[in-house]
Amino acid sequence: MPKQWPLAGGKQPSRRRLFLRRALLVVLTLLLILGADALVRMHQAADGIPVLNYHQINDRDVNALTVRTDQFEAQMQYLAEHGYHTITPAELTDAWDNGTPLPDKPVIITFDDGYVDNYKNAYPILQKYNLKATIFLVSDFLGTYPNYLTWDEAAEMQASGLIDFESHTLSHEELDKLSDEEMQHQLVDSKHALEWHLQKNIKYLAYPCGDYTQKVQDATRDAGYRAAFTVHLGYAEKDKPQYKLDRVPIFGGTSHTLQRFKLRLKYAPVFAPLEDFRLSLREHGFTWLAAHFNTP
Ligand SMILES: [Zn+2]
Repeated sequence: MPKQWPLAGGKQPSRRRLFLRRALLVVLTLLLILGADALVRMHQAADGIPVLNYHQINDRDVNALTVRTDQFEAQMQYLAEHGYHTITPAELTDAWDNGTPLPDKPVIITFDDGYVDNYKNAYPILQKYNLKATIFLVSDFLGTYPNYLTWDEAAEMQASGLIDFESHTLSHEELDKLSDEEMQHQLVDSKHALEWHLQKNIKYLAYPCGDYTQKVQDATRDAGYRAAFTVHLGYAEKDKPQYKLDRVPIFGGTSHTLQRFKLRLKYAPVFAPLEDFRLSLREHGFTWLAAHFNTP
């Protein structure tokens, strides 16, 4: 005979056990809701494309923007060996706007700022695995500061056919803090400078510090860009506005293990609400709590 609940008059379960049972039920229900929510998100993001976002690749700096060279190589090797195909932002918007077919498991690799280590450390690895990447350049910084690319290095990478260059503005000002005139100067003149130096159309932008408002998005469109990228965690999705496309940041921590990379690459849409919660904690002054809240 199966074990049954004690009948009235029999021995009652202690209050503590009742409480534990209820707590367990609440936790299980919460897990079920979160699991269902994650499944819905994965389904919605099924057509989304991961746009990986890097900054520096070197073994010297230990900071939130730097990925060690061996870790970067492990990540690129993973992409190459697991059937991922790198595409450019133009291939992405061509597919969305004109229905041009995309390869299987498409992914976009991007670098912001245009550091010289992209040429010295990342480029040989991208060549080794035959992977395309897009570098968003701060046009005034090229050939001006020693830790940024020179125009010659950019030209050499572009000639390989693997590296595409786009704009990260003229001097990396946060666009939402500028006057209309200054904002336009940053958007239009960086586009012209890059087009003149690289002899190609510049059609895509990454917002400096990921900052954008509706006004910034409108100005970006009016300046002649076709789409723009943020640093908000998530996949780039066709149904979302093309001037605030999400990316998958491979920064924000000092450990970029292959395990963490794989989690972000595959489950960014699931982790996005967790990351948003962490950011809102920070925004509301709970910095100590946000610091202990780690998004994978
Ligand atoms: Zn930047």
